[in-house]
Amino acid sequence: MRPAWLEVNLDALAHNVSLLRERAGGVPLIGVVKANAYGHGSVEIGRELVRLGVWGLAVATVGEGRHLREAGITAPVLLLGGLHPSQAGEVLAAGLIPSLSTLEAARALDQAARALGRRAVVHVKWDTGMGRVGFPWEDAARVKAALEGLEGLEVGGHYSHFADAEENDAWTRSQIAHFEAVRAAWGAGYLYHLANTAGILNYPEAAYGAVRPGISLYGLWPGVGLKPVARLLARPTLVKCLPPGHPIGYGGLYTTQGHEWIATLPMGYADGMPRLLYNRATVRLEGHNHPVVGRISMDQITVRVPGPMSLETVFEVVTPDFHPSSSLCGWAELTGTVSYEPAVRLAARLPRVYLRGGVEVARADA
Ligand SMILES: *Cc1c(COP(=O)(O)O)cnc(C)c1O
Repeated sequence: MRPAWLEVNLDALAHNVSLLRERAGGVPLIGVVKANAYGHGSVEIGRELVRLGVWGLAVATVGEGRHLREAGITAPVLLLGGLHPSQAGEVLAAGLIPSLSTLEAARALDQAARALGRRAVVHVKWDTGMGRVGFPWEDAARVKAALEGLEGLEVGGHYSHFADAEENDAWTRSQIAHFEAVRAAWGAGYLYHLANTAGILNYPEAAYGAVRPGISLYGLWPGVGLKPVARLLARPTLVKCLPPGHPIGYGGLYTTQGHEWIATLPMGYADGMPRLLYNRATVRLEGHNHPVVGRISMDQITVRVPGPMSLETVFEVVTPDFHPSSSLCGWAELTGTVSYEPAVRLAARLPRVYLRGGVEVARADA
């Protein structure tokens, strides 16, 4: 196996699932595994979430859903986002639950389902204020009448999405009120769901029939007791002592001050470490953080270490915590983005090793 890999702690995932269940008052979870489970590996994470008893999974593209089906996952899989009418056939063939935001997509799906002699289960997406996808909430009654005329469709659920349940209370409350109006128009007998991570944590009263956590499953949300699930580990390919005044890496952005021991780790920005982190990131070894020095290359980084060491040494390039320069949340902060972004950029070419109780239970090596 490549000496740079992602280790995924399934016990931390289980901890996060139970914390979220508790915060959401025990309603079922729809585990969001889009973008390769935020970089963690959608098949293995999806299987584990099913094992932990989630209602279903959610993905962003038909291809992501098909990938889960081909791996033998039979749980309900919700396809998020706006369905393009041209994908009606594929979505049914993959056995996914599409989200409807337009009558064009509804009609295309109705036709595709009837051509197969089937009814397609759908969830209706409502725009309660975000302005992105979904039928306008004001049209709830009109959309009901239109969808009831399409015999190839069976509405299984209704949902909407918070735009800013982290910071904007007034906006969030108006979204909840608009979702209530949709629920009043359609009535009982459907699965209603609204809350993402920020919604679960800040508006537990809006848990409805299910919640849709994504980033919190992976623990990448500080301050509430969640545990980051992934560590990025690497063994050095060489460790050498450079003389004073020696430049390191592309552009010579770092120059040794004295005799310095430098370890070269075989992973770089093509594996998802932001190139912007040069001279700012640190990596951990036996409890101590050491600076990444010089440019982050596509496939390698260089680290200043205290002395010589075995090539079997394992460095933590991503620590499973919220450290300001060695965690995914720290990387996000240092590069002016949210933790979601460094997570989803964890490259497919990194092998992924899954542990339960400290023991390897699965491995994926692309
Ligand atoms: C991505 C996504 C989620 C999960 O959001 P988090 O902030 O990661 O919890 C939930 N619902 C929808 C519609 C999404 O697109």
